Amino acid sequence: MSSKAGNQRHQVVVVGSGFGGLFGTKALRRSDVDVTVIARTTHHLFQPLLYQVATGILSEGEIAPPTREVLSKQKNATVMLGEITEIDLEEKTVTSQVLGRELKTPYDSLIIAAGAGQSYFGNDQFSEFAPGMKSIDDALELRGRIFGAFELAEVMAAAGMEVDHLLTFIVVGAGPTGVEMAGQIAELAHKTLKHDFRSINTRQARVILLDAAPQVLPPFGAKLGEVAKTKLESIGVEVQLGAMVVAVDERGLEVQERDGERRRIEAVTKVWAAGVQASPLTKTLSEQTGAALDRAGRIAVNPDLTLPGHPEVFVVGDMVTLDNLPGVAQVAIQGARYAAREIDGRLRGKAPQSGFHYFDKGSMATISRFSAVATVGKLRLSGFVAWLMWLAVHLFYITGFKNQVTALLHWAVTFIGNDRSERTVTEQQIFAREALKRLHGGVQELVSQPSGGRSREELEAQAAEEVRLTDAGARGRALA
Ligand SMILES: Cc1cc2nc3c(=O)[nH]c(=O)nc-3n(C[C@H](O)[C@H](O)[C@H](O)COP(=O)(O)OP(=O)(O)OC[C@H]3O[C@@H](n4cnc5c(N)ncnc54)[C@H](O)[C@@H]3O)c2cc1C
Repeated sequence: MSSKAGNQRHQVVVVGSGFGGLFGTKALRRSDVDVTVIARTTHHLFQPLLYQVATGILSEGEIAPPTREVLSKQKNATVMLGEITEIDLEEKTVTSQVLGRELKTPYDSLIIAAGAGQSYFGNDQFSEFAPGMKSIDDALELRGRIFGAFELAEVMAAAGMEVDHLLTFIVVGAGPTGVEMAGQIAELAHKTLKHDFRSINTRQARVILLDAAPQVLPPFGAKLGEVAKTKLESIGVEVQLGAMVVAVDERGLEVQERDGERRRIEAVTKVWAAGVQASPLTKTLSEQTGAALDRAGRIAVNPDLTLPGHPEVFVVGDMVTLDNLPGVAQVAIQGARYAAREIDGRLRGKAPQSGFHYFDKGSMATISRFSAVATVGKLRLSGFVAWLMWLAVHLFYITGFKNQVTALLHWAVTFIGNDRSERTVTEQQIFAREALKRLHGGVQELVSQPSGGRSREELEAQAAEEVRLTDAGARGRALA
């Protein structure tokens, strides 16, 4: 294969620095290629431990090391920050943007691993009051909201006001993420914080796990689902199944039971851990190739993970629908390694591999300290043994030795000492997401544009003028 990009070496562009992106790039370290990783965050995120950042167990750095640090010794890899806004399959280029700066990168081979976002099943307005759990920003916001709710409750209780709505925490979605999150909020309220407040009793906090499905942890089967539910209830989580969320607002949410009856639960803190939607990049790929999208926006690929008519473009991980593969890290890792092997094999003149086959290494979810459920092949495990397996696997997959050491120390603090090392929260954590959404042009409104667009000085002058008019009451009159 020659390089269309005009360079000596074959150019591979990798979209995303998550499981697919990172492991695909690493798998190309000995290949005669240049790899450019383009992702919209500067870190590689270990999503399975986001709930521990949200509940103060781990720091964000421990689960999200800088991608360029992880790849610093891989000489054929370059890391570039940027949101991919366009993929031109005919021209063989990807266009990325960061703060209004645009970059077009040509490729000979492309591995797309842009993952999935949260799905609110067509009710995106829920996200304002029920953040999802997909990014470091989400986890830090949730940390701020959870610890902030206890703080506000203390203030209001001291003033003799009612605080039940502040001491009720709802997690929507009883899959692994929801179960882990609900279990940790319960342990936080009932154990870690119990001596820290004077006007409230944190042990009286309600933690509710809601799901429209009739079972907890559906992928783990009925038996382990029941084990998980019983364990959750024993640590103080109220599990409410067959309850579909139909409305969410600042003070609470409304659920509809299977018989159609509606009821309201007052709770300021809500966590959305239900549903995923593939990266919107699948839409442009589908338009250019005719490949079908499923309801979650995942794109149908060929058995070798390539796009129809484009053997040079691989799509892996959470963006893909193929043989009912689950949206888990191992599917992304193994898919990306498969794509890397294929690219390398083609350059060496090897015959194509047979189609991609996923090797299922098992699944696990923690419920509380020392308690988890796990499936490995036909084995169904629960309790302490499953928890030890969870510990070993997660320690193994945390990226970088220093993160493994500090995560282990933080786990000792939490699991042996019932404490949390990462309880720092700020006002910005809680409110920045909504504040940024109100900028019509996005964050790039806050910086000067490289050319053309309005300068930061102009924007600041406009803001100052608006403040002046508001202070003078002129704007109000003008609008009246
Ligand atoms: C809270 C949570 C818990 C989970 N727990 C488990 C678990 O216990 N076990 C398990 O196996 N799986 C778990 N998963 C699922 C697992 O994390 C995913 O299946 C896996 O991350 C998919 O890998 P990926 O490479 O496809 O996408 P991701 O790892 O999500 O990576 C996507 C990458 O693409 C980047 N990106 C997205 N859009 C763009 C764009 N337009 N331009 C540039 N870059 C872009 C992102 O910044 C990111 O770097 C969990 C997921 C979540 C959210």
